[in-house]
Amino acid sequence: MPFEQPTIRPPSEWRSGLIRVTRGCNWNRCRFCGIYPHLAEPGFSIRPLTDIFHDIDFLSLRRPETEAIFLGDADPLQAGPATLIAIANYLYKVFPLQRLTCYARASTLKKIGRATIAELAAAGLNRIHLGLESGNDEILRYQRKGQSAKMVREVAGWLREVGVELSVYVLLGLGGERLWQNHILATAELLNDITPEFIRLRRLWLFPPSFSGPGCPLLDEAASGRFMPQTAEGTVLELQLLLQNLKAEGSFLTCDHENNYIKIEGMLQADLKRMNDQVGAFLAQPTEVKEAHYLEIDARI
Ligand code: SF4
Repeated sequence: MPFEQPTIRPPSEWRSGLIRVTRGCNWNRCRFCGIYPHLAEPGFSIRPLTDIFHDIDFLSLRRPETEAIFLGDADPLQAGPATLIAIANYLYKVFPLQRLTCYARASTLKKIGRATIAELAAAGLNRIHLGLESGNDEILRYQRKGQSAKMVREVAGWLREVGVELSVYVLLGLGGERLWQNHILATAELLNDITPEFIRLRRLWLFPPSFSGPGCPLLDEAASGRFMPQTAEGTVLELQLLLQNLKAEGSFLTCDHENNYIKIEGMLQADLKRMNDQVGAFLAQPTEVKEAHYLEIDARI
């Protein structure tokens, strides 16, 4: 039986053991995404528990010292709490595990509820990677994210209560040129409220079709003029505006993806001035220097 790996994992999980619980994304509707179909995984399925246990046994032979494990793909909580708890129990039996993480949609967390989240936390799930994307409901609706700022506030509170760390992803450029300030101000407000352990910044990239699958669904919106993509410089201004409005204390902010125009990271609030200064210094450079930099980074997915 072949060992299966998740299609995508967070960059921060590069050293983690990877166990695939589900395939693809059950939601698959976000306009800005389309990444699973693009990577030849257009459907969604829950893998049989026997196959998952087989992969755990295989990993335990190769890397018995594994202390961190990430469960894939996009929203493995769709497999149901009983399955997740059985997997967690087995993982903690087989490995000297310190950290067990997965992606989760806010709507899935809301659906399973606080009590079930507490059960998962008791079983050892101790960090959730959540696509926050924006704190602005108009943008979230248009992008078909299937969540609201209120929902994120609520589930973030539940996770905090039961001791599960929250690692959120913010997508610069998601409001386009028209709504960029609304996007950033509402996102900063939401981040200030929920103070996640990690804030991870990404830049919206409208990737084209390739041999493996279709391009980003938002491309059609951009082609028809219904969505006006943010400029490269505008994306950096978004980063600057975000930093200027972050009041959260104790979150670690990082641009830990290759497609960010500027790589900053540090603790809030301790490193905020340094990060602000870095962005200010970048923006103060001559236009041709910045343009060359934007072109160099351009399309890293
Ligand atoms: S952003 Fe997440 S939930 Fe939305 S389609 Fe992509 S993988 Fe699925």
